[in-house]
Amino acid sequence: MRAVDIIRKKRDGQALTELELAAFVVAASTGKDWEKYQLSALLMAIFFRGMNPEETALLTKLMTNSGKRFDLSDIPGPKVDKHSTGGVGDKTSLILAPLAVACGVTVPMMSGRGLGHTGGTLDKLEAIPGFRVHLSEAEFRDALRKVRVGMMGQTADVAPADKTLYALRDVTGTVECLPLITSSILSKKLAEGIEGLVMDVKCGQGAFMKTHAHAKQLAETIVHVSKLNGLRCEAVITAMEQPLGNEVGNSLEVIESLETLKGRGPKDLTDLSVDLAARMVRLAGIAKTQPEAEAKVRAALTSGAGVEVFRRMVEQQGGDPKIVDDYKRLPHTEKTMTVASPTRGFLSTMNAEKVGVASMLLGGGRSRAEDRIDPSVGITVRAKPGMAISDGEAIFTVHYRDESRLKEVQQLLDTAYTFSETTPTNSPLILEQLT
Ligand code: URA
Repeated sequence: MRAVDIIRKKRDGQALTELELAAFVVAASTGKDWEKYQLSALLMAIFFRGMNPEETALLTKLMTNSGKRFDLSDIPGPKVDKHSTGGVGDKTSLILAPLAVACGVTVPMMSGRGLGHTGGTLDKLEAIPGFRVHLSEAEFRDALRKVRVGMMGQTADVAPADKTLYALRDVTGTVECLPLITSSILSKKLAEGIEGLVMDVKCGQGAFMKTHAHAKQLAETIVHVSKLNGLRCEAVITAMEQPLGNEVGNSLEVIESLETLKGRGPKDLTDLSVDLAARMVRLAGIAKTQPEAEAKVRAALTSGAGVEVFRRMVEQQGGDPKIVDDYKRLPHTEKTMTVASPTRGFLSTMNAEKVGVASMLLGGGRSRAEDRIDPSVGITVRAKPGMAISDGEAIFTVHYRDESRLKEVQQLLDTAYTFSETTPTNSPLILEQLT
């Protein structure tokens, strides 16, 4: 089967067969038979011509099987994970995983790093001194047996076809393509050996999907393709116009996660974490209805059971468990700058993307995959849309180490919010659910 014939077929808008898709996936994972420009040409043909759900499901299965697939059938408990398409201040994984575990779910979580203005769970966890995210399979299984949660980075042998294809998509303008995004996300999730998945599809200017219509299409495709691959999945579309919670930056987000697990978190972050954890509990079969599941999760929050799971998870993965009670043990910087309001009125909007980019410029994120992160820096959001603000009141506190980009950060943050004369109505955080 020649690569050029497969490329032509998709170029002309026809659906590819399993054998044709397998030739493409094998070539991507082994580096043999196809040139990179041929892989790229097929990616571009898929970008323009799309794929039907059955084709996308086949591509997903083949990409999953291109590498290691964990068999967790010997690990006790229903295995359910959550995946978010990425946002600013989105630290829900650190909160909902311990809460779901406290309710009886087993959570094998393979997470990613932040890129651009969005954050990544692995970077947040690595802010904890000693915490290891590079686990061997034996260590991952040990964590799941002992604590019921393991959080690790994707290893080289998981979905290797995705590694090659994602790198090519990044440089060929083919990232924003529904079947390619779906197969990329789900191939890694299916490899985890989970039985259920809660997908948080972020929507808004701080997210990958800017409009509700696009977020909905992605959510629908992911739910459908999961089902075709035997994975129970439900998706929620959630707003990502403003940062989630009040902290952006790795150490700051660990602290805010712990405060939330202690029942002192901001309302938006607490409510979303509880909602998503409850969906995991329901998918795991531990509760029949969403209200029943939510009651269990809220009980784990109030009793402190969730924070105890977090402590054990940190200890199990080599981190310093004392950080749970003593935040000074986390990396921090004494240098802060306040960005104050030049006027009075009602804060109307806050641009999550600009806040995320500002944190990245401080060293809290990466503009290129190889950049190093400073876990101590970031931004505290002191005022959220809907609040009445007086002249000179703090909108942001910037936690910085190096002054060289401070001016740029200040300029960006000065344009990251707008005012209105009257009280703005806050739109809901959960925009839609798809089961
Ligand atoms: N995240 C992924 O893992 N893959 C994509 O294609 C997009 C987001």
